[in-house]
Amino acid sequence: ETSEFQVGLIGADIQLSKTPALHMREGTAHGLDYRYELVDIHARKVEESALPDLLAELEGRGFAGANITHPFKQAVIPLLDDLSEDARRLGAVNTVVFRGGKRFGHNTDWSGFYESFQRGLPDAKRERALLIGAGGAGVAVAHAALKLGIARLDIFDQDKARAGSLAKALNARFGEDRAFAVEDPAQSMPEADGLIHATPMGMPAHPGMPLEADLIEPRHWVADIVYMPLVTALLAAAKAKGCAVLPGGGMAVFQAVGAFRLFCGREPDAERMSAHFTEL
Ligand code: NAD
Repeated sequence: ETSEFQVGLIGADIQLSKTPALHMREGTAHGLDYRYELVDIHARKVEESALPDLLAELEGRGFAGANITHPFKQAVIPLLDDLSEDARRLGAVNTVVFRGGKRFGHNTDWSGFYESFQRGLPDAKRERALLIGAGGAGVAVAHAALKLGIARLDIFDQDKARAGSLAKALNARFGEDRAFAVEDPAQSMPEADGLIHATPMGMPAHPGMPLEADLIEPRHWVADIVYMPLVTALLAAAKAKGCAVLPGGGMAVFQAVGAFRLFCGREPDAERMSAHFTEL
C-alpha cells in the first residue's frame, strides 16, 4: 500500500502560490506523503482551452483532487459531475474532488473568508458594510458577507457594471434589498459599520488605498483580502485610527484548511496552518 497522496492547483501564473507549502506541511503532520503539484498553463505553454485535458490528466494520474484558480473558476463547472450547494449558488469552484470516478466541485474561497471573519472579527457590528471590489474574489467574499449576517452590503467597483451585476445576483440569492451598488465609497462609509476590501490595491504592483483615508473612522472594522503584503496601506491606516482590522492571510489559510479537509477527509489543524503561513 502506497501512502502517496497527490493533489494539484490548476491556473495561470501561480508559481508564487503559498498553497502548496501549506498543504504539504499539514499533510506531513498527518503522516501522509502529501504531494501538491502546480499545473500552470503559462509554464506548460498551453492555452486556456487545455483545461479539460489538464483535469483529465490529474484524475488519470490518481490525484485526490485539485484546487482551481484564475482563469478557470467558472470554466471548470461544465466539466464536473456535481457541485456543492454554495458552489452552485456562487457559480464558481476553487476545489475539485475526484472520487469513485466522479468529479465534485466546491468553493472554499467564500468559506475561507467566512471562517477568518468569524475568528478575527467575532463582535463586528453587521448592520451595514461596504465591499470594494466585485471581481472574482469580491463575488466569493460578498457571498460570505451575507452568510455572516451583514444585513445590507453596499458594493463599489470602478467597473460599475460589475458592482451592479453582483448586487443583482446577491439579491436573487439572498432576498431583495440585501445588496446595493454604490457609485462612491463616500456614499456608504458614514453609514457603514465596516469595510471589506477586495481589489488588488495595496499590492506592490498596485500601491495605494482603495478609498480616501478620511472616510475611515475609529468605529469602523476593516477587512482586507490582499495578503501580499499582510499589512496593506489600508490596514495600516485603519490600525492607526484604532479600527479593528482583519488581514487577508486568514482567508488564504482557511481556503486551504477547507480544501485539505475535502481532499483527504482529515481535520487539518487550522492553528498550525496559520502559524506556518506567517513563516512563508
Ligand atoms: P479581479 O481582477 O477579478 O477583480 C478586481 C476588481 O477590483 C475588478 O472588478 C476591478 O474593477 C476592481 N478594482 C480594481 N481597482 C479598483 C479600485 N481602485 N477601486 C475600485 N475597484 C477597483 O481580481 P480578484 O481575483 O477578485 O482578486 C482581487 C485581489 O484579492 C487580489 O489582488 C488578491 O490580492 C486578493 N485575493 C486574496 C485572496 C485571499 O485568500 N486572501 C483570494 C483571492 C484574491
